[in-house]
Amino acid sequence: MFDWLVVGAGFAGATLAERLATVRGERVLVIDRRDHIAGNAYDEQDAAGILMHRYGPHIFHTNSDAVFEHLSRFTKWRAYEHRVLAKLADGKLVPMPINRTTVNRMNDLSLTTEEEVEAFFNERAEKVDEIRSSEDVVVSRVGRHLYETFFRGYTRKQWGLDPSELDKSVTSRVPTRANTDDRYFTDTHQFMPLDGYTAMFKRMLDHPNITVITGTDYSAIKGKVPYRRTIWTGPVDEFFGFEHGKLPYRSLTFKHETLDQEWYQPCGTVNYPGEEVPFTRISEYKHLTGQVADKTTITTEFPAAEGDPYYPVPRPENAALYKRYEAMADATPDVWFVGRLATYRYYNMDQVVAQALATFRRIEASVPVGAAEDAPVLADPALAPTGD
Ligand SMILES: Cc1cc2nc3c(=O)[nH]c(=O)nc-3n(C[C@H](O)[C@H](O)[C@H](O)COP(=O)(O)OP(=O)(O)OC[C@H]3O[C@@H](n4cnc5c(N)ncnc54)[C@H](O)[C@@H]3O)c2cc1C
Repeated sequence: MFDWLVVGAGFAGATLAERLATVRGERVLVIDRRDHIAGNAYDEQDAAGILMHRYGPHIFHTNSDAVFEHLSRFTKWRAYEHRVLAKLADGKLVPMPINRTTVNRMNDLSLTTEEEVEAFFNERAEKVDEIRSSEDVVVSRVGRHLYETFFRGYTRKQWGLDPSELDKSVTSRVPTRANTDDRYFTDTHQFMPLDGYTAMFKRMLDHPNITVITGTDYSAIKGKVPYRRTIWTGPVDEFFGFEHGKLPYRSLTFKHETLDQEWYQPCGTVNYPGEEVPFTRISEYKHLTGQVADKTTITTEFPAAEGDPYYPVPRPENAALYKRYEAMADATPDVWFVGRLATYRYYNMDQVVAQALATFRRIEASVPVGAAEDAPVLADPALAPTGD
């Protein structure tokens, strides 16, 4: 008898499993249908011995001291500030997010102050009465030329939608700067786990009360193993048998290559914003991990309509559909929905950890430890306790 079944061994599931086992001393079964732990953050050494990320580059950054301190129990860190360059159609490499260097290099200018750069943006910015779409956000800030160069094609490739059809939240994630700060993130904590993400997850799940089974879908466990409560970190619509229809997700295809050369590109990620190529970006892991090797491994990302669910598509009708599933989730006793897929949110790793820790606090406040008097969640009567 397990106290908890945790479906999904990513950040949401592993964070909760560890807290339930360590703080409450409860018995936890963690399953994942993939053949490994760590969810989308999974990393592994490839055939050439290069530490790479199977599901695309994951860079840890957060402003939350609590999240950083929590994860620091399970890993040491390597300081790393991610930098991204955009490769333009004319071959120029310029910093992304747009900053003073981007403006100068694109236009052969030599602006030296933030005021000059703000004036450059303001001269080009278009007046938009109400900022609703992803296009409105950028055009109203920096004008149409920079929008078309950096955002239009990239967004159309990434989402299969024009920015004018996409919620403003998508391009609002990317700032525009008048200074020369070329870091992709400005969070107070920017690190990579020293031995990698998978090693960190192994330490989180290494507890005598935790049993981990990978390569196993929920459907294979449901009704076959006795457990009292469930943490669900898979897609929320899947849990309810797609009763109201499928929630739309954007997917990606990854092309991983090991090259017989020390370096491929000058920084961790190079974006390809133009529609002349079908991919969005290329990342080179050695920049992220600091690994020293004669060879290098890169990943090219091709956005796709079909495949693993990666990005919830932020459109009003999808938010409305999610609300219907959320109401069902709220009305389902003893199942807690946590993580990117279960709450249909475009969350970063740190936000998922924060959400999982908040869920744990709610469990602590409302669920008695063990609760032995409760009936187990058990659909298969053959497995019901028979009392010898
Ligand atoms: C390409 C890409 C790059 C990213 N880069 C960054 C980054 O640089 N920084 C950052 O902070 N965030 C990044 N993210 C976001 C990050 O991946 C997520 O925030 C994080 O992985 C979410 O954790 P999770 O536990 O909610 O979900 P997941 O990691 O998706 O884990 C859910 C797990 O549940 C399992 N599962 C689902 N259904 C079932 C079922 N029925 N039965 C059994 N198992 C099931 C899945 O196999 C999966 O392993 C990136 C995401 C992508 C796609």
